[in-house]
Amino acid sequence: MHYWKKLTGDEIRERVFGALNRNINYKERTTLGIPASHLDENVFNQDATYLKDAPFLSAMVHNPNHIGCHTLGDSEQFFAGTQQIERELIALVAEDILKGAPDSHDGYVASGGTEANMQAIWIYRNFFIRESGAKNNEIAILCSADSHYSMPKAGNIMNLPVISVPVDDTTREIQPEVLEQKLEEAKTSGIRYFIVVSNMMTTMFGSVDRVETYVAALKRAGVEYKIHIDGAYGGFVYPFSTTDEDLTFLNPEITSFTLDAHKMVQAPFGTGIFLIRKGWMKYATTEEAQYVQGMDATIIGSRSGANAISVWMILQTYGPHGWFEKIHILNYRTEWLCNQLEELNVPFYRNPSSNLVTMRASSIPTGLVEKYGLVPDSHGQPKWYKIVVMEHVTVDHLMPFVEDLKVHLAGK
Ligand SMILES: *Cc1c(COP(=O)(O)O)cnc(C)c1O
Repeated sequence: MHYWKKLTGDEIRERVFGALNRNINYKERTTLGIPASHLDENVFNQDATYLKDAPFLSAMVHNPNHIGCHTLGDSEQFFAGTQQIERELIALVAEDILKGAPDSHDGYVASGGTEANMQAIWIYRNFFIRESGAKNNEIAILCSADSHYSMPKAGNIMNLPVISVPVDDTTREIQPEVLEQKLEEAKTSGIRYFIVVSNMMTTMFGSVDRVETYVAALKRAGVEYKIHIDGAYGGFVYPFSTTDEDLTFLNPEITSFTLDAHKMVQAPFGTGIFLIRKGWMKYATTEEAQYVQGMDATIIGSRSGANAISVWMILQTYGPHGWFEKIHILNYRTEWLCNQLEELNVPFYRNPSSNLVTMRASSIPTGLVEKYGLVPDSHGQPKWYKIVVMEHVTVDHLMPFVEDLKVHLAGK
């Protein structure tokens, strides 16, 4: 662990206040040129004594703008202090969690997983166009049928077709024969370049795609491809619950990752993390962003620096061992639920490394769906309902659900 060390509350306060002090202070220095300031003090009290002990709220009030990508070199000097914390966060996730080599990644805190996935697709589309002379209609997004709807959204915005590969209904895995057939069909329709988005835990099932299945089929098809990993859901779970290193930067087939801190890390919304190997951000640089120091290689533009600080604070508070323990407690509870469901003969899907359990809707009465806030795969025609075992979902919360389900099944 190079960046990730458990810090005390005092150490965290010192770092964050130190960083804020190196940002522009609108009260001490006259700055005429930027359309930014601290939060409106008629509404948000700047001198509240509790702010002195609250680094995140202080960052909110200072309101630094982290526009652009700070791992690339030059960035807006007004917010250099807190950008340094974001840079460390990016390195922490790329190196200490995803096993990347030192100083070999770029990235930024995006608005969410949607933007981070879109950023990857945008980069690879531009790469194929610029380096291989591809036309837009020769490029496709390739992902599994269990993938998040941000891929069709990205396809719609960037005018790229999405090839959705069906998965086995029980194992939720892509079948190599089916994938091969999809690739043949795509080639026949003129697609030569594939942007693969492979899942590190899907939203509905927590299922994990085998990158090797994609690589083998794409190589056999003799086409060009780039692989992005969507770990919006699983990025802060899976690396801690498996010893498998396929879904890390140690796998040379993978170029980029999405992780969402606003899901399992319980950070404020607006904390998607985008990571990519060095040398790729340039395909997303908008040269016309001349008024921004260092220009802009992100989709979002202006964004809150407090968001990056919040994620850094959470991870540094736990430290690597604390985070490992937390994920294992969640997985222990998930295991408990799965054992109960097995005893009740309720069919369900669960990846052994995941804190998500998805039950066949046919075994679950609608009364329990409402009572326990279960989420369906489709609100129109539910085939599955899921339970996400988070910090606030303890065995004591799961037990009444299991008891109710037992009563229902006994009366069937
Ligand atoms: C939630 C999720 C997304 C989208 O993330 P947002 O933060 O809601 O934009 C993308 N992919 C997966 C697998 C997700 O679970």
